[in-house]
Amino acid sequence: ALDATEPTDDTELAIEGALRPTSLGEFVGQQKVRGQLQLLLDAARIQNRPPDHILLAGPPGLGKTTLAMIVAHESERPLRLSSGPAIQHAGDLAALLSSLVPGEVLFIDEIHRMARSAEEMLYLAMEDFRIDIMVGKGAGATSIPLDLAPFTLVGATTRSGLLPNPLRDRFGFTGHLEFYDEPELEQVIARSALVLGVDLPRDSLSEIARRSRGTPRIANRLLRRVRDYALVHGGGAATLEGVRAALELYDVDPIGLDRLDRAVLESLVRRFRGGPVGLSTLAVAVGEEAETVESVVEPYLVRIGFLGRTPRGRVAMPEAYAHLGVPHPDGALR
Ligand code: ADP
Repeated sequence: ALDATEPTDDTELAIEGALRPTSLGEFVGQQKVRGQLQLLLDAARIQNRPPDHILLAGPPGLGKTTLAMIVAHESERPLRLSSGPAIQHAGDLAALLSSLVPGEVLFIDEIHRMARSAEEMLYLAMEDFRIDIMVGKGAGATSIPLDLAPFTLVGATTRSGLLPNPLRDRFGFTGHLEFYDEPELEQVIARSALVLGVDLPRDSLSEIARRSRGTPRIANRLLRRVRDYALVHGGGAATLEGVRAALELYDVDPIGLDRLDRAVLESLVRRFRGGPVGLSTLAVAVGEEAETVESVVEPYLVRIGFLGRTPRGRVAMPEAYAHLGVPHPDGALR
């Protein structure tokens, strides 16, 4: 049981779950991917077979897990959740695959982090619903073929380029998720506010949307902190001043950048004089993993035109200097 006095990550996770839309119709934005998924699901339904394997690519928090749940829900199939880091040996995957019921949807988050040996097993499983189980070691080793129940794999990855080609090619379709624009984020937040019972005036709604980094998960998280602030300081209603104070408290800047975003920009602009600088050098300078900088921080900074990726390394764009209030080396402060 959850201790009500001490909110844990579990409660936050449970709330995140409660905020997930359960049908494609409720899922905001991503019009392209939604249309592609709809066709795939409709065709499978007509032929009464599991939908093709689906790969979903994009930065964290844009709705990959939610879409996997929707695929299962809309095709009325059970769902199994797993993740790349949990599959460290081929045996882990064999156990998982052989326990699926016919037609089950298997979601593997961060599929690019799965063990290599499991990857190879997955090729055959995806193609023929079959695996070969190795028994014994050395000269006496043999492989025993095992038939699997047909299933639909939904893989999620921060970038489809992280997957080896043979794996990528075995998905019937790859959906690329994009950052959300402000009107879309407003829809996400309005829906969540309704679910959470937060009284959110129009200007507060827009302010949260503007500062959500194009990401529904962040929008929902900011909304919860705004709700807390309103509870403690405002007696309920989330005023614009309350929103601003809450977001300042949590180090979310006026355009939605967080501490790590700003650390990367500051480092790039001040320490490396605007670059170009290599990803790993930049990551060490801010004390983060290169993969985190590359797949969590950079996509949004690129999208808003603050950071460029060039063959020689990362460079700061004039907009980044302007945002940090640092004069651009070319002269005028823009
Ligand atoms: P990912 O798997 O890509 O990291 P999730 O699917 O876990 O992202 O989504 C994170 C949160 O954002 C969830 O609470 C989910 O309800 C919400 N969310 C994501 N996309 C949408 C959307 N299009 N409409 C409404 N809520 C969304």
